[in-house]
Amino acid sequence: MTEGSLYGERITLGEPPLKAGEILYSLRDVSVEYGTRAGPVAAVDHVSLDIRKGEILGLVGESGCGKSTLGKAMLRMISRPGRITTGELWFDGVDLVTLSERRMREIRGARLGMVFQDPMTSLNPLSRIVDHLTETIMTHEPSVSEAAARDRAAQLIGRLGLREERIDDYPHQFSGGMRQRIMIALALALQADLVIADEPTTALDVIVEAQFLDLLRELRDEFDLTIVLITHNIGVVAEVADRVAVMYAGRMAELASVNELFLDTKHPYGQGLLRAVPNIELDGTELYQMAGAPPNLLHTPSGCAFHPRCPAVMPICSQHQPEFLQREGDHYTACWLYQDHPVKPGVHDA
Ligand code: SF4
Repeated sequence: MTEGSLYGERITLGEPPLKAGEILYSLRDVSVEYGTRAGPVAAVDHVSLDIRKGEILGLVGESGCGKSTLGKAMLRMISRPGRITTGELWFDGVDLVTLSERRMREIRGARLGMVFQDPMTSLNPLSRIVDHLTETIMTHEPSVSEAAARDRAAQLIGRLGLREERIDDYPHQFSGGMRQRIMIALALALQADLVIADEPTTALDVIVEAQFLDLLRELRDEFDLTIVLITHNIGVVAEVADRVAVMYAGRMAELASVNELFLDTKHPYGQGLLRAVPNIELDGTELYQMAGAPPNLLHTPSGCAFHPRCPAVMPICSQHQPEFLQREGDHYTACWLYQDHPVKPGVHDA
């Protein structure tokens, strides 16, 4: 790799380069718990999920469902009083849980990127954009000269639709949408394979949001980037994602291709989320509102955690937790409507 190109040297892990569609990141039985004075909170509860190279995976659910915690767990960025209590995080053939913090920092900086809702929390307001980018590049590639790092940084922000001369500006001189592009530039500067974007469009107006989503798609195609898009807005996922994972109460409720999920939602929670999306074709129709509120994870409801709100609830639902199982093809769900019920004394199905 020559100095001045967009990409630098690559930190290699355990596997040869993957092809599009192969599993890049595999979560196995991952749980995250937060210690509170009132007791432990299971923010992520035994989640398993495969993320394919080159896909945009939408991770959706209401506030507090564990989606952001899961994103942080993937980067091993859970800070105390939280901790990963079970599971494996296989990235490119290596279980990140087993790595030292030093090695994890290297990989987090170079192969895994994160874009937050408010980029100002990640950008130093006293440093120019060029300083952020060149420092990032030179920290991970000490052999790159400052001039070459600057050239690469300018090319990157140019690629992301910003004028190259603005590289000498400070973060506060950019709009929210531009700052999100700069965060992506930081990830691309290091040839990140996987970018986790946590509510990246929540603070943007609809026009800038649409431009940013277009950009994500372009970058995925151009750089073979894999993107996990965390959002409460299922409409955003419909715009850009290849597959969608729906979380509820720290668990996986449903996983399917975006077409499957929108055309044939299996889980009653996913059905409720979709019905609650405003639709201009239904002018005058009252918007659906899901009954109840997300559960307090200090006291997650027994069995299927959605049972107190579910319009299709059956007696078994409060007694046994359904497994997250393949329903058909690429479509997975955790719901007793689609699984054989265990035969237990005293359990009568409706
Ligand atoms: Fe509803 Fe029961 Fe399915 Fe849970 S398992 S979503 S309560 S039908």
